[in-house]
Amino acid sequence: MTSEAERAGAILTIDLEAISANYRRLHDQVAPAECAGVVKANAYGLGAEHVAITLAQAGCRTFFVALIDEGVSLRRALEDHGQDNPGGHEPTIYVLNGLIKGTERVFAEHRLRPVLNSIGEIDAWAQFVRDAGPGQQGAAAVQVDTGMSRLGLPKIELSILSSAPSRLAGFRLTHVISHLACADEPDHPLNHAQLEAFAAARRSLPPAAGSLSNSSGIFLGRAFHMDMVRPGSALYGVAPVPNRPNPMKQVVRLQGKILQVREIDTHQTVGYGATHRAENRKKIATVAVGYADGYLRYLSNRGNAYIGEFRVPLVGRVSMDLTTFDVTDVPDHLVHPGAMIELIGDDITVDALAASAGTIGYEILTSLGARYHRVYRRR
Ligand SMILES: *Cc1c(COP(=O)(O)O)cnc(C)c1O
Repeated sequence: MTSEAERAGAILTIDLEAISANYRRLHDQVAPAECAGVVKANAYGLGAEHVAITLAQAGCRTFFVALIDEGVSLRRALEDHGQDNPGGHEPTIYVLNGLIKGTERVFAEHRLRPVLNSIGEIDAWAQFVRDAGPGQQGAAAVQVDTGMSRLGLPKIELSILSSAPSRLAGFRLTHVISHLACADEPDHPLNHAQLEAFAAARRSLPPAAGSLSNSSGIFLGRAFHMDMVRPGSALYGVAPVPNRPNPMKQVVRLQGKILQVREIDTHQTVGYGATHRAENRKKIATVAVGYADGYLRYLSNRGNAYIGEFRVPLVGRVSMDLTTFDVTDVPDHLVHPGAMIELIGDDITVDALAASAGTIGYEILTSLGARYHRVYRRR
């Protein structure tokens, strides 16, 4: 009998202890502000259930998801793992994408809090809470748009709301939030423009806690921390400030399995489209990972991997289930069928892979394939 790990084309190791350490680091950095945890999109592809339990055990009490059903699953996962009442309080779950008409009951049933993104959503929530009677406080956040032009009350709706604050009276407004567009560019003028626009928005609304910063925003300084920060990517090891030393621990390791090794000689080509042509004798290793696993096709003839200390260039095109590497310089005892090659790890971080794939670490993480054999490390 072989194990699933032995049969898998690749092994994805997710270091929960590193996530925990990253949470504590950010928590300590922003205290006394609260540090929430953003676990939308299956915790950036890493597994919302494992990640949320880890964060809860590290002291995280407030979670953000994008979709209502992510919130429903998260509530169940916290309950299933005995994290439904840590420290005598039920963890709080906010749904960033707001209130979809007709879902009010689902929010109430699973004790989820909507992030209300328009006057329409505010009025609908207030109506629902009024109709539900005194048992329902209807805790919710309101998002204002301060420069992202994506979600949240635009300026015109904010001024309508500030001249009719009774519209907010029917439920418990916990937080006013907004989202930074350029937090990963510390010198970008929009950061301070958004900070000021956000302060003005809060002054025009009834008193509530404020939250502006994602991972990168935390590193813009104290003024950006306010009452609560909302990191996602930094928890998962992505560098919060590009081109500076990354203070976060790496969380993800991806090892692909070598299926075959072959020698090719001058003029022989590798892969679809014959885009790589050998100029002399070469040794090629074929690895059981492809674009169907989120190993992006853009890496064709661009990417790199490591075998031990040896950097091996990706040659030819990435295909659906397979990728080829030039292993000519690697000693034979390290390259044979069944040997592992490091596709993400200490030598090629998520950010480094993202750079060669023309994208950002977020997309590498959220693309991590469903076929990988996943191993969760706790210490
Ligand atoms: C995704 C998201 C975050 C987390 O962003 P990171 O850059 O991953 O830290 C915070 N706030 C909002 C509104 C988001 O959509």
